[in-house]
Amino acid sequence: MADGSDGPKEACGVFGVRDPQQPAAHLTYLGLFALQHRGQESAGIAVSDGDKIMIDKDMGLVATIFDEHRLQALPGTLAIGHTRYATTGASAWRNAQPVARHAGDVFFALGHNGNLVNTIELAVGHPDADADSDSDVVAALVADALLADAIATAAGKTAANKAAAGDIGSTGHDAGVAEKPGNGDLIAALTSVLPRLQGAYSFVVMDETRLIGARDPNGFRPLFLGRCETGGWVLASETPALDVVSAKVVREIDPGEMVVIDDDGVHSIQFAEPARKALCSFEFVYIARPDGKLAGVGVHAARRRMGRALARQSPVDADMVMPIPDSSIPGAQGYAAESGIEYGDGLIKNRYIGRTFIAPNQQLRENAVRIKFNAIEDNVAGKKLVVVEDSIVRATTLRSTMKLLRDAGAAEIHLRVLSAPYRWSCFYGLDTSDRSKLVAATMSVEQIREHLGADSLAYLELDEMLTAISPEPGGFCTACMTGDYPVPVPGLVV
Ligand code: SF4
Repeated sequence: MADGSDGPKEACGVFGVRDPQQPAAHLTYLGLFALQHRGQESAGIAVSDGDKIMIDKDMGLVATIFDEHRLQALPGTLAIGHTRYATTGASAWRNAQPVARHAGDVFFALGHNGNLVNTIELAVGHPDADADSDSDVVAALVADALLADAIATAAGKTAANKAAAGDIGSTGHDAGVAEKPGNGDLIAALTSVLPRLQGAYSFVVMDETRLIGARDPNGFRPLFLGRCETGGWVLASETPALDVVSAKVVREIDPGEMVVIDDDGVHSIQFAEPARKALCSFEFVYIARPDGKLAGVGVHAARRRMGRALARQSPVDADMVMPIPDSSIPGAQGYAAESGIEYGDGLIKNRYIGRTFIAPNQQLRENAVRIKFNAIEDNVAGKKLVVVEDSIVRATTLRSTMKLLRDAGAAEIHLRVLSAPYRWSCFYGLDTSDRSKLVAATMSVEQIREHLGADSLAYLELDEMLTAISPEPGGFCTACMTGDYPVPVPGLVV
């Protein structure tokens, strides 16, 4: 999303590691650092030393929250971590993850990437759950299931004891006394709760000894399993987070699958039948890092193919092809290669910008754009430019960026977009739920062109975009471009 703070906000990043040879908190720090682009509001790490779980989480970027001192205070060889952008729930410390719960003597922690569409329904009857946070509601449901499992197990033991007492005719046995509830089984609790969740979820979960990963039956959000050189196991939202801890990709977690990692290795449980495959196509357009792979497809190469397809579909006579950095760079390279027009840089992005600040008025908003981007006047003055952008969501920052190029002397600006118009809200993990703010939901392409001040505007056709991602048809969510929601959203009229 190169159109700045008013584009889609990233979903979340999750990471987990279980490696008896290595300090888990340090590895998780590296993994979260590699997943920082998926969420910059808060980050957290839960770690187990085999006996107890400790959690440290805070608002801010991974590198500003954790230093060596804080990581040293998290000893253990099993950990999960999370980077968050708020999709449901406010941007507040209480919503930072991992979330954690006690149920009897069982303590577990959980990190979530995605967004559920039935949170309100799930929260009914759970007054202690924060209905603003789908992740907290899931943790509450799992805790309840653990208690129910513990009670059922105790009742089963009581019945068995009664039967045993009857069998041997003993009167000295305390078979008539109810067993005190013990501890529920976390795997059984997850297996009962996960099928009730509707929407998008890739979870990392842990108790004191096990690392668990689970992915929704549609596979909206990615989740990878990797193996460390030392023999340990890693779970991560994207493959660059495996690379950074020198882990090799083993495979993706399948839709509807849960993996449990313990001393004996990886155990797979299919907790739900896979549903219609619906990997988020925007992972390829904008969300995922270009140095990673999803569904066996290299993200950088997919973006280049989108650029090539766009050049064939919407050619233009121009002097230079330039990206709006960073995520549009491979697409602009593809457009340049296909069209034969020189590739160049027209904008420099400040590498040190974190979250763009919320500016209270138009003048300050324009200044905010200049903090993020500045034009290279020598490269754009007097030139006919093809400006490649990955997507247009809210468009206000993009409008200011167009003005920046005009002010630097661009003769013509031909805006080319690597995805189809973003017309519908995402309810599966991107923060675009207010449809009235989506520029393509309220304006025609011609109106958007005029609004942005471009000389021409073209979006890549959806079919071309999907073919550029993968030659195999189907398997992707495209709801934000088509209104075809793979999991129905309660109350939404399409
Ligand atoms: S609606 Fe769009 S952004 Fe959301 S999951 Fe589907 S393709 Fe991705």
